[in-house]
Formats: sequence, C-alpha cells, structure tokens
Amino acid sequence: ALEQRTHTTVLEVNLDNMIHNLNYFRSLLDPGVRIMIMDKASGYGTGTYEVASMLQHQGVSFLAVAFADEGVTLREAGITMPVVVLNADSDSFEIMIDYGLEPEIYSFSSLEAFSQAVRRHGETRYPIHLKLDTGMHRLGFTESDIDGVVAALRNQRTLYIRSVFTHLAGSDEERHNDFTREQIARYTAMSDRLLEAFPGEHIIRHVCNTAGIERFPEAQFDMVRLGVGLYGISFAHQEQLLPVSTLRSRIVQIKELQPGETVGYGRWGIIDRPTRTATVPIGYADGLDRHLSRGAWSMLVNGRPAPIIGNICMDTCMLDITGIDAREGDPVTIFGAEPGNTVSDMAAVLKTIPYEIMTSISTRVKRVYT
Ligand code: PLP
Repeated sequence: ALEQRTHTTVLEVNLDNMIHNLNYFRSLLDPGVRIMIMDKASGYGTGTYEVASMLQHQGVSFLAVAFADEGVTLREAGITMPVVVLNADSDSFEIMIDYGLEPEIYSFSSLEAFSQAVRRHGETRYPIHLKLDTGMHRLGFTESDIDGVVAALRNQRTLYIRSVFTHLAGSDEERHNDFTREQIARYTAMSDRLLEAFPGEHIIRHVCNTAGIERFPEAQFDMVRLGVGLYGISFAHQEQLLPVSTLRSRIVQIKELQPGETVGYGRWGIIDRPTRTATVPIGYADGLDRHLSRGAWSMLVNGRPAPIIGNICMDTCMLDITGIDAREGDPVTIFGAEPGNTVSDMAAVLKTIPYEIMTSISTRVKRVYT
C-alpha cells in the first residue's frame, strides 16, 4: 500500500478485532438492548469514518461524536445512521440540522437555542437527546430542572426527546460502587418523570459506558454507550477482548557508540559501555509522550524490549538495541498486543489512562486497516 511506502510510522487498526470486541460486549446485554458507539476523538484515535462504516453493518443503533465537525465528516463520507453530537456548540446548531445530526441537550439555554435553530430551518419533530446530571457534574439537567424541561417541551412540535441519558463518574472503580448505584437510582427517578410526562414517545434510556456494561448489568435500560471497550480495553475481562491498535515503525539508522558518548538533545543518553542504537522515526509530534524518554519506555525490536535512550525528539527517538539482532529497516512496535508493551502498560508508566494515549496519536501518523 502507498501508506506503507510513504509512512514509516503507522497505527495499524484491526477492524475484525473491533468486531470481536463489539460482539463480546453485545453478549453481555439483555435481548433488545441497543448499542451507541462512541466514535468521538476520531474513534478514540482509530479513525472516525472507518469505525463508522464498519459499524453501519454491525447492528449498532447510534454513533456519538463530541463536536459537530466530526459528525459532518461522517455524513460527507456517506454515513447515514443516527449520529449524536455530545458537546454541540450552539454556533454549530444550524450546520447540525443541515446534516441531520442530533444534539445532546444539557441546559435550558442549549434547549432554547436548538429549538430556535430548528424553527428557523422550518423543521418539525427534530430529535434531541437529553442529558441528566446525576453526579458527574460535567453537563446535564439536575433533578430540580425536570419540571422546567417538561414545561418547555410540552405543547410544542418542534422537538421530541429521542433519548434521555446520564453518565457515570466512577463505574470502573469498586470504591465508587455505592455512588454508582446512587447515580443509577437518581437517573431512574428523573427519567421516570420524563417518561411519564411524554407517554407513548418511546424515549430511549441509557446510562452505561464500557465499565458500566461490565460491572452494572442492572443498568442496561434500553441502550448502552460503548467506547473504550470496542477499542480493546476491558475493566473486568481483558482476556475476552482482542487488541485493536498497534503503533509500528521501522529502524532507519543503526549506530555503534563508545563509552563517554551521548545520545540526543541535552546529551542525556550517556553511554558507559559500547552501545548499539537504533533511530526510529517517531517523536513527540506523533504523540509519543516525551516523559517516555530515558528508559521509561521500551519498544519491541524483533520481539525484544529496547529501551528509549536519551530524550525523545520531535520526529524521532533512539533505542538502545545492544545485544539485539537487528538491522536497518527492521520493524519496531511502539505499543501493541504483547504483555508489557500495551497501551495500558504505557498509560501506567505515564500515570494516565489508556484513553489519553489512544487519542493523542497525532494525525500525521497514518492509520492503516487490517
Ligand atoms: N458516554 C459518554 C457521555 C462519554 O463521554 C463517554 C466517554 O467519554 C462514554 C459514554 C464512553 O465511555 P467509555 O469509553 O469508558 O466506554
């Protein structure tokens, strides 16, 4: 493929494994429970459109993106399934209506602004997705807002509630189990009031993210919102999932260095023994966090861990491959499926979560699909 010839560093995305993961999560659901897939932040780094086009044929009911432009990209690429925009800015409401994108509505001002935009467009019965705040305290209507929401949506034909949802703040952590149950109870009470106020409207209820699906089966309601699990991360049964993303590159130069020499900027890679280094064309501008410098992370070279030596540069980094049988042109795995070399391992080193690493691989790293 052209990418293979023009891009030495690629993120390889295995769509078959993504389907396997989807089916694993589907196996946890009660019959009839639908799936919304989180396709935001470029499908958690794997590619907005490719994920969507694969999912269109996999019985997924909705896609969710963060901002309107991600939804526009999907529509322009021919994706026709329902797309929810979670963090829609009111400035983007007109465009969203043009492209048939459905907003998360989380405040009275967003409700009023969207209603006006729909009326200006001359549309009636446009779907919205109401967000309830049950403890995350990010976005959403609170308990005391429900009467006002009902009043605003009653006796009008501009908008209808297609779904009502909330987001769990700690569904992946045992120590927050009581709070999660409290959130589910608050959600149930708040959404009951909406369902009672709009009988016969078939409002879809949804709460669970990946960890919620795995850890709170009682909270499946009508739909779940699957994110990181699709992309290969589990909070309960990692062994059931298949790896989706592998970040790969190649050795572009090998050097033999002598004691006393240093490698890279700041001359941090000080050598106290004869050392072979391999230069790899991936740097912090590709999303390789500079905190992984100086031995904090090892890449796999012909199956052997090779620590980063010295500081990571903008477009390159150097590995210590002393004792490893390697040649220029040999492949390097920055992260992938091997234990010790996964995104989760890298996240642990960086004291962050896999999500941040997955969504930080910059766009200049070509995505290739297998
Ligand atoms: N629902 C909402 C509103 C979200 O913001 C997210 C992700 O941030 C998800 C669901 C999916 O979460 P996860 O990737 O943990 O499954």
